[in-house]
Amino acid sequence: MRTILILLFVSAVISGCTPNVSENKNVTTGDMPNISEVTIDKVISSLKGSTDKDSYQRLEKGVKHAASLWRASDGTEEEFVDFCEKNFTGDSDRLFKVYEKASRNIEILYGYFNEITLGLRKPLDEPMGEIGPIDEMFGSYSVGAHLIEDMYKNKIAFYIALNFPYYSLKEKEEFGKNWSRKEWAYARLGDVFTSRIPSDLIRKAGEVGSESEMYIARYNIYMGNVVDGTGKSLFPADMVLLAHWNLRDEIKSNYANKTNGLEKQGTIYKVMTRIIDQSIPADVINNKDLKWDPATNQVTKDGKPVDAASENNARYQQILNNFRAMKAMDEYTPLNSAIKRAFEGNMEITQPEAEKLFREFLSSKEVKQVAALISKRLGRDLKPWDIWYDGFKARSGIDETKLNAITEKRYPNAAAFQSDIPRMLMTLGFSKEKANYIADKIEVDPARGSGHAWGASMKGSKAHLRTRIPASGMNYKGYNIAVHEFGHNVEQTISLYDVDYYTLHGVPNTAFTEALAFVFQKRDLMLLGINNTDTKKEALETLDNFWSLYEIMGVSLVDQGMWKWMYDNPEATPAQLKEAVLKIAKDVWNEYYAPVFGVKDQTILAIYSHMINAPLYLSNYAFGYLIQFQIEQHLKNSDFATEVERIYKLGRLTPVAWMKEAVHKPISITPVLTNVDEALKIVK
Ligand SMILES: [Zn+2]
Repeated sequence: MRTILILLFVSAVISGCTPNVSENKNVTTGDMPNISEVTIDKVISSLKGSTDKDSYQRLEKGVKHAASLWRASDGTEEEFVDFCEKNFTGDSDRLFKVYEKASRNIEILYGYFNEITLGLRKPLDEPMGEIGPIDEMFGSYSVGAHLIEDMYKNKIAFYIALNFPYYSLKEKEEFGKNWSRKEWAYARLGDVFTSRIPSDLIRKAGEVGSESEMYIARYNIYMGNVVDGTGKSLFPADMVLLAHWNLRDEIKSNYANKTNGLEKQGTIYKVMTRIIDQSIPADVINNKDLKWDPATNQVTKDGKPVDAASENNARYQQILNNFRAMKAMDEYTPLNSAIKRAFEGNMEITQPEAEKLFREFLSSKEVKQVAALISKRLGRDLKPWDIWYDGFKARSGIDETKLNAITEKRYPNAAAFQSDIPRMLMTLGFSKEKANYIADKIEVDPARGSGHAWGASMKGSKAHLRTRIPASGMNYKGYNIAVHEFGHNVEQTISLYDVDYYTLHGVPNTAFTEALAFVFQKRDLMLLGINNTDTKKEALETLDNFWSLYEIMGVSLVDQGMWKWMYDNPEATPAQLKEAVLKIAKDVWNEYYAPVFGVKDQTILAIYSHMINAPLYLSNYAFGYLIQFQIEQHLKNSDFATEVERIYKLGRLTPVAWMKEAVHKPISITPVLTNVDEALKIVK
């Protein structure tokens, strides 16, 4: 279900820790901004004479911003003064010409780099025979890795920073209310060069990041070796589950198991708590030779007890490594903490706003009502792992073999799906002309994996829909995913081709592209000409969505709390961090879950692997669900095709500004809650 966005500049500048970021050899730790206040003031007053009055604010911000990026290695103070005097454009009409040129060139860079990456990766993404080492080496080559470094070296970065200054999120939201589209486009150009993080810090963060990836990727539990007091296992001998995703999914799949599902869930839960508190023996991780009873923590080999030391807080050491690598960047960016960079920078919603919204949701009266319904459907009191209750999934009610027969016949190959795109768009309400216009810009390719959508980055290029089609034709599961990816492609096309300014192309963040993908995916049967007659379907989906939000918001609060604690205690040891996380997880549980589940002091909200290998990412999911829900509600009550076009043409405003324009409402928990109230009347 992934979508591939190549944001060369943006990811390099804002996240500062992606593996393909620049290596700026000019700038190393210690090479700090060196332009004095006096010089900055001197430049501003000397340029005022040749500047339009309405550009005074831009002049001041621009000079200050360029100065904040200038290092001793870029030139002397006199050279800085000279650079500003030669290159600041005080005339508003001429500035637009500058914008058009910069924007055209950036589109060329983004666009062709994207095409090169697509081309180099093609043998990995499409079935083109055996993959050899040479394919992987070319496929992982990052063509844009040195772009940012080059832009500072040739001074393009300073030229843009000086003329199109950076506006903070707060400023964007405040000034943005009165900005024209052109002013928004200028501000987004200003986002391209906002900070200059030394290359050794970026490299260090990349190294710790991949170490954490590996730590998580190898965290397998051999479930056939997880035994009870009598040495018996409830799980198949060959079952290997990766923490935490597979463990969680195994809990979910056991809701249908009426024989010993509850017992199996309880065992997995015990495994999870031992991972969180680190009492898990290090030797049972990723090891097929040892048997382990998580209830007593006894480890045996060939029936004989063995001594096995615990993991010794390795989990928390990984988190601290990431924290320190990211904290080291703080002094080099205007968003001077990793928390700010993740929230204000990447998501463009502040952490306090996110926290407030999540706490409101978790306190809603609906939580207890839905919990009571789940307990009734399960026929028992709730257990803590029921945060992953899976019983609201709406089944289509139509035999899947019948659906397979339909899709296999209709789509024997990628070309068949390709030629059906205009019809699908017209079925959704697009005019014939618009349907062909969009269809012309999407290319359907056969995929090696389950499929993905890869957008274009310049006009004239196509978005790619990768879908896996077996020799027998596309089965229903593959079709369902292909329709999801198709939704991504439609968004990618409209938000590139129909947006008025290139620097505004795209959507505010990943939640906004997922929204349209899910909207399409939900209509997959309708596109086959089948009407789903299950009246409870929507109510079930609403309840499912609500319960997922209840879980992920709690998890996100633990993640946020952990990062705030680390900033308050930067010298903490792994053992101290563990104690803090256990306490934070219990506090969130006791406040919002214990009253519902009837049991206190559970640590389960700290199980997510994202806390280790995707620092501060979890809150994105919660916003994703909320935004999707609001967009879906809006599209349900309006002319679908007209609104999809209008909304996705808005481009990359901030999430708050985008939602106001798109659905005429702020991001809010109210629509979900209102719909849950309705759903509770339908699902008993
Ligand atoms: Zn997706």
